[in-house]
Amino acid sequence: MTQETSSPSQPASSSPTATHPGCMAIARTKAELKASLANLRSKPSATLALVPTMGALHAGHIHLIEQARRHTDHVAASIFVNPAQFAPTEDLATYPRNEAADLEKLKKAGVSLVWMPTADAMYPAGFSSAVLPPSAASNLESDHRPHFFQGVTTVVAKLFNQVQPDYAVFGEKDYQQLCVVRALVRDLDFNLEIIGAPTVREPDGLALSSRNAYLSAKERTIAPSLYATLKALSREIASGVDIKVAKTKATEKLLAAGFSKVDYVDVRDAKTLEPLTTVEQKASMPDNAGRILAAAWLGNTRLIDNIPL
Ligand code: AMP
Repeated sequence: MTQETSSPSQPASSSPTATHPGCMAIARTKAELKASLANLRSKPSATLALVPTMGALHAGHIHLIEQARRHTDHVAASIFVNPAQFAPTEDLATYPRNEAADLEKLKKAGVSLVWMPTADAMYPAGFSSAVLPPSAASNLESDHRPHFFQGVTTVVAKLFNQVQPDYAVFGEKDYQQLCVVRALVRDLDFNLEIIGAPTVREPDGLALSSRNAYLSAKERTIAPSLYATLKALSREIASGVDIKVAKTKATEKLLAAGFSKVDYVDVRDAKTLEPLTTVEQKASMPDNAGRILAAAWLGNTRLIDNIPL
């Protein structure tokens, strides 16, 4: 049954799909989702944005919702820890989950509908289809998580088909993912607009992430050096240092700071994600047309970050 919270601390009310201000519908089955969407769409001109998440919500996620609210009448958020984007060796079982706190935050942020399907509802017995990721998925994350983007494109396509939003908001924090989703929408003619939202950071520069909860106190003190190193790399390239030399130096800096392994530090075209290898290439581009992306390990925690060049 569709649940609603009229106040975060109160139990769900019995009315299945009310969506007037202050009410947040919670759908856990496709039937509940359909009923809630019909309610939201009862005024034909009302627009809807979707903010897909895996829960364990932080201020970065809430920022996406705020962006969504600027564009639309209604915001739907999904919470689904998508098994298809985790390899068997990854942290699916331990991924942080905090449903009660998440619902409280979403309600406070003004979300009208939360779609939180079970894994069985999303991938029922016999499910065997997949959406082939676009070329933006090549390299970077895919070199280290080869299964990842097919899991993302498949679940995002399903979410778009299920919710049929007018807009969907994704964070620049997962920059390659944002490029992949943009290409997916373009290539497969999804009838919606993708909005990219800037990365929200801690005061010391660390990008907010649900996985930051894994960091030990010592690792947490090292973590901000990822952002600091990317900024230094950007300054070096802007001042004319050879890109390959600057990337090597950045990798060495991260290892010296205490990162155990660097998966990549790379400089790419911000739109196509094609590699940028020479200062001349960079010089011929407008500001912010490049992107620096990195992934590095602090103990058992893998951090990713990126900044404009
Ligand atoms: P996740 O729950 O990690 O799958 O993230 C859901 C959405 O939130 C994705 O579009 C992410 O890019 C975005 N996101 C995660 N962290 C941040 C952040 N620090 N700032 C802005 N957006 C973020």
